Amino acid sequence: MSSDMDHRARMAKGLLRATAEFLWPQRSLVSGQRGAGKGPLSPSEFAAIGFLSDPVCESCGRPMELDLGPGAQCAPCIARPPRWDRARAALVYEAASRRIVLDLKRSGRRDGLHVMTGWMHRAGAQLVAEADLIVPVPLHYTRLVSRGFNQSAWLAQGIARRAGLSCRVDVLKRRRRTPTQGGLSAKARRRNVAGAFKVSDRAATHLCGKRILLVDDVLTTGATLSACTRALKQAGARQVDVLVLARVVRETDVTI
Ligand SMILES: [Zn+2]
Repeated sequence: MSSDMDHRARMAKGLLRATAEFLWPQRSLVSGQRGAGKGPLSPSEFAAIGFLSDPVCESCGRPMELDLGPGAQCAPCIARPPRWDRARAALVYEAASRRIVLDLKRSGRRDGLHVMTGWMHRAGAQLVAEADLIVPVPLHYTRLVSRGFNQSAWLAQGIARRAGLSCRVDVLKRRRRTPTQGGLSAKARRRNVAGAFKVSDRAATHLCGKRILLVDDVLTTGATLSACTRALKQAGARQVDVLVLARVVRETDVTI
């Protein structure tokens, strides 16, 4: 009896989905066109997106040419280990994923969030499973007021919902409004955000001994994520892992 009801419920849901897709075909996450394919990407757009999968560097999530086994690090991480513990990214930041990121960041386009957080959850499954708390990279409050949203908080909240974890957007604060990182060198980016983040007094008591999953939209040089990690660890976090939607793989791609 109950399996019969389950079957009918699944049929009804499928019918609703098909009707919704017919009436309001999904907009492509890349081109913005409606009905370009079944779902948020056409087959050619899907093929053009660089999804990251193992083998990747344990510390920074950069793709590795050879599978050197679990925990292997890339040469730059061996030479200069990042401040955070582990990082993972769902996508390579290049032409197609750039459109997705910029639509989210600049236009506040939310209809692809469930797809993006699904990609991120898959790419960072182990990090998510081991996290106690999810924390997004914050905007300065004046930027938050003028923009009206923080795309990293949207991503963090989406992953938290999927994983059944708590997400706190009030843990990290930007002390000052830093100029945009776009077009700056790695060194200038580090200087730009040095000391720019702090843990709010109210949240500090909840961080001691915790494993934090820090979420952002893009990892470029890692300067912002590194400054956030420093603040979280100074406040007593035991571990800070990083999960982003897309990461720059070649330095020449640093355009945002
Ligand atoms: Zn690495």
